[in-house]
Order: sequence, then structure tokens, then C-alpha cells
Amino acid sequence: MADPAECTIKVVCRFRPLNSAEVARGDKYIPKFQGNDCVQIAGKPYYFDCVFQSNTTQVQFYNAVAQKIVRDVLEGYNGTIFAYGQTSSGKTHTMEGKLHDEDTMGIIPRIVQDIFNYIYSMDENLEFHIKVSYFEIYLDKIRDLLDVSKINLSVHEDKNRVPYVKVGKTGAEGTVLDEAKMINKSLSSLGNVISALAEGSTYVPYRDSKMTRILQDSLGGNCRTTMIICCSPSSFNDAETSETNLHVSGLL
Ligand code: ADP
Repeated sequence: MADPAECTIKVVCRFRPLNSAEVARGDKYIPKFQGNDCVQIAGKPYYFDCVFQSNTTQVQFYNAVAQKIVRDVLEGYNGTIFAYGQTSSGKTHTMEGKLHDEDTMGIIPRIVQDIFNYIYSMDENLEFHIKVSYFEIYLDKIRDLLDVSKINLSVHEDKNRVPYVKVGKTGAEGTVLDEAKMINKSLSSLGNVISALAEGSTYVPYRDSKMTRILQDSLGGNCRTTMIICCSPSSFNDAETSETNLHVSGLL
């Protein structure tokens, strides 16, 4: 087993293809890829641990981004993979995809397969406990994706001070501008947390956003964390793509 104190945080970026409505509207395909870690939008380069072009298959993406984290989790690490990006940038496709379809299923069903294959390969007298929760943060509100009537859930801490989400109340959806503002706010909070950790600061501002509170355990200590920035390639979304989604490459 590798050094448990070693924590790795990676940021990768994935572009979806133009969809038929965008093609019909005459939108242009704007990203220009340089090597496997840089993408240019309007001549400005953005660097990541890895950049995935629109023709990357679900299997290729899983093997490159998630497979190793699942193996490390089975060896005792905390693993986190989360997708980020404006509406319609490809988060659901990346995380969920088409369930039960070998080619198009996303990261979550592949992780479930890998974990259960591992369990089935172990001694049958061993007992495993698996808990699942599934939620998204939208406009700094938490929505339970297993029960979408639950919106704006609160973050609590258990007796070991580990943050958790599970009680719901109704909230409202916001505008594209609200979405962009909130993406920038939580990205700055994430950048501040990562800088404080990198500097060894005694105060780490986890509480500045719901995202950083939830990720508290995934950003320090024994962690394998990968953030996936999902991007639209369309000229119609170029401002959101460069000012919000890709902006993270300068913050982290
Ligand atoms: P989000 O969850 O970010 O709102 P979606 O995952 O629903 O976005 O993606 C929007 C649309 O683009 C969906 O129709 C989805 O199937 C399609 N799409 C997203 N990413 C890809 C991809 N990598 N390859 C093919 N189609 C994609």
C-alpha cells in the first residue's frame, strides 16, 4: 500500500460534442486542443492534469480518470470524483450516462461494477457495508438526486465531525447569471481551501461554501480526488466556458 499521508487532487477537463440543435443553429466548435493537458478558447490557453476531447468514449474516460481511484479506495484511501460545469455541459452523461449500456454508461455504474466484482472475488465470510447517497449542488443549494423533491438540504457534521447532507425543503431554480456567479463563488472557495492546505495554514476556510464543506474530507489527508470540469464546445456558450468552467485552471 502506498503512503497514506499522500493526498492527490487532480483537475481534468472534458468537452462534449456539439449537439444537433447547436449544429442546426450554426454554432462553431471552439476548443483547440494542445497536447493532452491544454485547451485554447479564443486563443487563451487553459492547463489541466488532462484534457479530454469530444470523441473520448465512456470506457476511455473511466479507465483514465476513475479506475485507479476505485482501486485505491479498495486499499483504504478516501476517493472522490465529482463533475462540475454549467447546465448541459455533460455532467450527467459523464457521471451516470445510460445505465445498463456497456458502451455509454458513465462513471457511477462502472464504479459499482468494479466494487461488486472486487467483493465477489473476496472470501465469502467477509462482510462489506456499502452506503450510497447521490446529490448535486446547484446555486449553492443541495439537491438529493435519489429524491428530487428534496431541495436545499443542509450540511451537518456527524459525531466524528465528518460533514454529511441526508432533511429537505423546497427551493427555487435560478438564472444563467445566478448559475455563473455561484460557480465562480464556489470555485474561489475551492481555490482558497486548496491554497490554505498547500501553505500548511492552520485555518482552512472549508465553511465558505457548501461545496468545500462537503469536500472537506476529500481535500486533505488520505485522499484521491479528481474534479472533472465538463464543458460545452459551442461558440454559443464560449463566455460560460471560459469565464466559469475553465476559470478553475487559474484558481487551483
Ligand atoms: P448536464 O448534466 O451538465 O446538464 P448532460 O450530461 O445532460 O449535461 O449533457 C447534455 C447533453 O449532451 C445530453 O443530451 C448528453 O447526452 C449530451 N452529452 C454530454 N456529454 C456528451 C459526450 N461526451 N458525448 C456525447 N454526448 C454527450
